[in-house]
Amino acid sequence: MLKRKMTLFKLLGFTVYVDASWGIILFLVLWSLAKGLFPSYFPDLSIPTYWIMGLTGAMGLFVSIIIHEFSHSLMARKYGLEIKGITLFIFGGVAEMRDEPNSPKTEFFMAIAGPIASLMLSFFFAVLYQVANNLELSVPIIGILGYLSAINMLIAVFNMVPAFPTDGGRILRSLLWWIKGDIGWATQFASRISLVFAIVIIFTGFMNMIGGNPIGGLWWILIGSFLFSAANASYQRLLMKQSFEGKTVRHFMNQTPVTVPSHITLQEFVDNYLYRYHYKMFPVIKDDKILGLITIQTLKSHPHEEWKHLLVDKVTQLQNSDNSIAVNTPINDALNKMIETGVSRLLVVEHKKIIGIITLKDLLEYLALKMELETTL
Ligand SMILES: [Zn+2]
Repeated sequence: MLKRKMTLFKLLGFTVYVDASWGIILFLVLWSLAKGLFPSYFPDLSIPTYWIMGLTGAMGLFVSIIIHEFSHSLMARKYGLEIKGITLFIFGGVAEMRDEPNSPKTEFFMAIAGPIASLMLSFFFAVLYQVANNLELSVPIIGILGYLSAINMLIAVFNMVPAFPTDGGRILRSLLWWIKGDIGWATQFASRISLVFAIVIIFTGFMNMIGGNPIGGLWWILIGSFLFSAANASYQRLLMKQSFEGKTVRHFMNQTPVTVPSHITLQEFVDNYLYRYHYKMFPVIKDDKILGLITIQTLKSHPHEEWKHLLVDKVTQLQNSDNSIAVNTPINDALNKMIETGVSRLLVVEHKKIIGIITLKDLLEYLALKMELETTL
């Protein structure tokens, strides 16, 4: 889960990742530039020229978005917030914070840094555009500079739409938070406004498509759907954080995990453990101490014929910091760890002994129950 991103590069201590969705987006940008925008504004150029302009424009957009996200990240760092990395996806990027901002002021300045950077970029490219015009440089160069100035203006304006979790949504939330002093209420209110905006944007997209503007319409729909799911996700994330506040792994772990001795064969493991308990993961024990764990995936990677003589010992994934956790770890940290590593079942280990197992499923079930009990409509 959540393993759809690829590391691009590191700069100023931040890692920049790219989400799988960027492949589609890059293609959409390139296509709309080379087949739509540039030919309509600058007719009579050759087809290869349009594609080169499209590619350069897409690259410029890409760099512009990175600069926008870096300005958020640098501002966050100034206020002492840790940034895990920057992920580029769908129509932009996200600077991923490990924690939510601790005050409305931090959130306000962090959020507004992005649109300000985009405005400055827009201005910068507008100046270059003027210079290129005055020097009578070639049409493709002027066209690309004009496009970059316009697109950065669009990014700034779009990000100021008060639809959480865009920058505008965060600015709105920080103001609401500042007025009432209640982050939960502010998030809820900002999320509701965001959902309304998202629906309006999706609707606009459909109207555009019906009205004969399929490319523009598709963009609106994509952006609207992204906003819709993101607004929901950020609200749930915050609820989650509040629900788990002050609780540690000890509160949620299964304290009587079924353990497997390392000296039995895989066949014995299948017959006596897997079919009996139906768990997806079992801790493996050797001389009373934790050795590691065995999963269905491990089992499946060995052909059936081997199960009769291959020992559990030989296929155990050894215990390490990725698959285990200490009992007094705060739950929010445990969740972050599961999300970062994509490992949804962790061994709880103390003094080399297994004392429990904690799973993402249990945490989510707890949350679902809690939300059901607390939701008032
Ligand atoms: Zn931003």
